[in-house]
Amino acid sequence: MERDLRHLFDTVIERYWSSIDLGEFAVLRARGDPFSVLVAVVLSQNTSDVNAARAYESLVRRVGRPVRPEALLEIGVEGIAEAVRISGMQRIKARTIVGLARSVSVRELEELDPLELRSRLLSVPGVGYKTADVFLLMYRRYPVFPIDTHIRRVLTRYGVARPGEDYEAVRRTVEALLPRDPDYLLKAHLSLIEHGRTVCKARRPRCSECPVSDGCAKAFS
Ligand code: SF4
Repeated sequence: MERDLRHLFDTVIERYWSSIDLGEFAVLRARGDPFSVLVAVVLSQNTSDVNAARAYESLVRRVGRPVRPEALLEIGVEGIAEAVRISGMQRIKARTIVGLARSVSVRELEELDPLELRSRLLSVPGVGYKTADVFLLMYRRYPVFPIDTHIRRVLTRYGVARPGEDYEAVRRTVEALLPRDPDYLLKAHLSLIEHGRTVCKARRPRCSECPVSDGCAKAFS
């Protein structure tokens, strides 16, 4: 399995990484400021990168750059929801962002022990494992592998994850077989998402064009 998983990740990095436009990611635009990154990660839930980036820029126009918890609390759920409407699920996201603004400071995002911070973030309603892990990987450069919908689908078809398997179990399986190198994990994360979006699609995966079909369980089923 280790060889197969490295084959999968090394191949998708080679295929997609150089063509990924990092400027499209709201999370990466917000780089350099922890609270801004965290807000951008929340805005990225269940929407396209383009709309997440637009929502982030709209919020910045409203509260200024960098995004600060105090400024968010000042405009509240209504103000945030209005500013980030283009990303969809705006009221849910606004409530999550207000919850984060009340629960964690900029300094704690910078300095708390990563696993302690993960627990703190997960205690905020609306923050799931993926959101916490994307923040830890992208901002804290902590070697964790976030699993999103595309990644879960590819890993399940490939034969690494079982259908419906718990997030933490999938994450641990992947992390046990990959280098604890945040740069590698970030490239692997974004490249596998790209593979899921463009080739291993939810409906009608394009297996005949797939660069990893030689190791994929579904391709042999
Ligand atoms: S062979 Fe098909 S199912 Fe397997 S990873 Fe490639 S596109 Fe997905």
